[in-house]
Amino acid sequence: MSEENKNEVSKESELGGTGNFIHNYIMEDLGSEGLCKLNTRFPPEPNGYLHIGHAKSICLNFGLAKYYGGKCNLRFDDTNPTKEDVEYVESIEEDVKWLGFDWEDRLYFASEYFDKFYEYAVKLIKDGKAFVCDLTADEMREYRGTLSTPGKESPYRNRSVEENLDLFERMKNGEFPDGSKTLRAKIDVTSPNINMRDPVLYRIAHAHHHRTGDKWCIYPMYDFAHPLEDAIEGVTHSICTMEFEDHRPLYDWVIENVGGFEIVPRQIEFARLNLTNTVMSKRKLRALVEEGLVDGWDDPRMPTISGLRRRGVTPEAIRDFCERIGVSKANSKVDSGILDYCIRDDLKSKTNVVMAVLKPLKLVITNYPEGQIEYMELENNPENESLGKRMVPFSKELYIEADDFMEVPAKKYFRLAPGKEVRLKGAYFVTCTDFVKDENGNITEVHCTYDPETKSGSGFEGRKVKGTLHWVNADTAIKADVRLYAPMMLDNPDDPSGDMIMNPESIEVLKDCYIEPAISAAKAGDKFQFMRNGYFCVDTKDTTDEKFVFNRIVSLKSSYKPAK
Ligand code: ATP
Ligand code: MG
Repeated sequence: MSEENKNEVSKESELGGTGNFIHNYIMEDLGSEGLCKLNTRFPPEPNGYLHIGHAKSICLNFGLAKYYGGKCNLRFDDTNPTKEDVEYVESIEEDVKWLGFDWEDRLYFASEYFDKFYEYAVKLIKDGKAFVCDLTADEMREYRGTLSTPGKESPYRNRSVEENLDLFERMKNGEFPDGSKTLRAKIDVTSPNINMRDPVLYRIAHAHHHRTGDKWCIYPMYDFAHPLEDAIEGVTHSICTMEFEDHRPLYDWVIENVGGFEIVPRQIEFARLNLTNTVMSKRKLRALVEEGLVDGWDDPRMPTISGLRRRGVTPEAIRDFCERIGVSKANSKVDSGILDYCIRDDLKSKTNVVMAVLKPLKLVITNYPEGQIEYMELENNPENESLGKRMVPFSKELYIEADDFMEVPAKKYFRLAPGKEVRLKGAYFVTCTDFVKDENGNITEVHCTYDPETKSGSGFEGRKVKGTLHWVNADTAIKADVRLYAPMMLDNPDDPSGDMIMNPESIEVLKDCYIEPAISAAKAGDKFQFMRNGYFCVDTKDTTDEKFVFNRIVSLKSSYKPAK
């Protein structure tokens, strides 16, 4: 990409946050067709929970509509009753709202248009543009030909209009079993585009629909229903992912041949979001849920919107991510480090920084008065003064991270070791004088002395120390379980299909961590930065009145730096 183009992309994203080429198309149309406003839609199939890939589509569709002063509909593409469920409808509505988008009164279901679709199909039959076909699925595949060979006409292609009307009506009335007949468009079986070789418009499925019940036993195919849904709703720009590029001639054919629509929608394709170490398909995510490999669709490891929410990711971070990655036609895989960057960037000035010891080791200050307690004043967030300060209890017995002590210090280890002095954050300098081991040789206690002169905030300048440790006062500490996460999926070099495998180490549960009392009033969903350990969120499912459970949202280490 030239330097000039790069600038253009960033300028566009400042404007609408939605990339470059789609804006160009829209500008073209707004001019040439005199459209005064843009209508888009987000059209999920309610067959699973939304994932971060859908977030890209949501931000794009709602973002463009907002930018051009148009409207974006939420429309459920519920034409496949066997896989769909109201649970999914409800979760999708919740997720879109949570992401910060509003469809106002424009909530639609493709199933509301089933009567219309049926009429449109009858019109195509009457116009000699559709026929009822008795080929089985296997036969149809055979007749369809391949990329290099043309298809063959179905022997049922030349049925009379009357016969087709009669058979189609009887299909609707439930006279035929599943798979025995289809309604097909009569287009061109020799077309180089396989999608145009007399595609199926309707199939028979004696299945209960979550909204229309048992009214229908024939259901429209996606390629027939989708353009009609768009046209009925007056969608001007139907934005979808690249795999539909080859279907665009059929999309246009359906609208043109059904005819009579005020607005002729234009289909525009963009590349779907793929993320490293992430499965991005409802079908594959559903398999993980059904096999019990995760704690439901909202397992904090899942790339679902509900999983990200439970983990503690904010809608602001997701929207920022979608803006940063931009929109293009080239398929690629985005580094999931970019998402982590956006998450940190959003939380860094919003969250209170507190001290939590995840792998505790007792530290005893031998020269500190027994029974004394001091309150140390610490800033809640060094980057955001408006979050104020708090008082943190300090006494003779504390906890520090087990990792912050080494019996025999490695090179450049500036933390605690026999004879070494460190600063306890916001408190005093302490020097290690001794340590205790259990019968297995594990270190169970570290003994230190403190220097009362070195109290934080006293202006002490006598000497400097290199290490600063976080700590928690033992008596007043709050116990919690803390879950750390690694990527849920790993590339599998042994699988030529490119399918990833579940990371057996994607979750680590730390029991009995100690956190300073500042978190005692935290509610489910509250977020904190644990000093030196990352960003954490109070789990909404597993936290009880007795015990906090925290999920690590993201660590502090960043693998990604944005270009300036
Ligand atoms: P999945 O395979 O995960 O079920 P889908 O495309 O079948 O995905 P839909 O419910 O049909 O899921 O998607 C609704 C909208 O979201 C569509 O317009 C689709 O193109 C878009 N979408 C789905 N996945 C992605 C993705 N990874 N990146 C961008 N847009 C996506
Ligand atoms: Mg799908």
